[in-house]
Amino acid sequence: MGIIRDWIYEMGDTFLDLIFPSGIYCINCDAPIYNKPYGLCDSCREKIKWIKGRTCGKCGKPLENWYFPDACRDCVNEKHLFTKGFSCAVYDDSVKKIIIDLKYNGKGYYAKHIAEMMYQKLNEQNLQIDFIIPVPLHPKKQKERGYNQSYLLAKHLAHLSQTEINDRILIRNRYTQSQNKLSLINRQKNIKNAFTIINNGYICNKNILLVDDVYTTGNTVDACCKEMMRYGVKNIYIITPVIGKNE
Ligand SMILES: [Zn+2]
Ligand SMILES: [Zn+2]
Repeated sequence: MGIIRDWIYEMGDTFLDLIFPSGIYCINCDAPIYNKPYGLCDSCREKIKWIKGRTCGKCGKPLENWYFPDACRDCVNEKHLFTKGFSCAVYDDSVKKIIIDLKYNGKGYYAKHIAEMMYQKLNEQNLQIDFIIPVPLHPKKQKERGYNQSYLLAKHLAHLSQTEINDRILIRNRYTQSQNKLSLINRQKNIKNAFTIINNGYICNKNILLVDDVYTTGNTVDACCKEMMRYGVKNIYIITPVIGKNE
């Protein structure tokens, strides 16, 4: 049943969703649920470290109350190119399985539930967004995986927020190794110049919301921003469901 259910959800068909409705099992522990926020049972939802209170003014990582600057250590040491980043929860063991399953285990249908938390976060800000752009995957990797999880998150977020999505402007031109298997220096090298803008007149003077699955060092989104800024983009905001803590 599991494999068939996964395959059917992959189809993303509303008709099939009527027969096999999503939101009946917790996306983290498989417990039966009915109509719970984010597709999570109460227990899993309570374990997640939701980001509220003090955050880094740049990337949105949570800050301890005793910590002095308004930016996290990472953002004090490294200048990021985006205007501001937002994230829903800390990337720890309580959410790891959900993100890994979304990215690598064919659970593309989780995106619908995860986008609900991103929508809530977005709603708490007062942002002017012209359109949403997902961080692209290289076509070869997308073919291997069957989908781009950031695109799926962006698609559902665009639907919920009634915002235009465009996944035809920013493309990935280099097939890069998975970032999490590399050291910090190699990560930066690996991602540099990996993205290209096509249809370049489109983003001039626009406010963009860039969607990725996880924010860690910001290297990936910075590489996207660097390319977009060459074409006169006005503001780039970043939204991810989860964010790593500073090392
Ligand atoms: Zn659960
Ligand atoms: Zn920061």
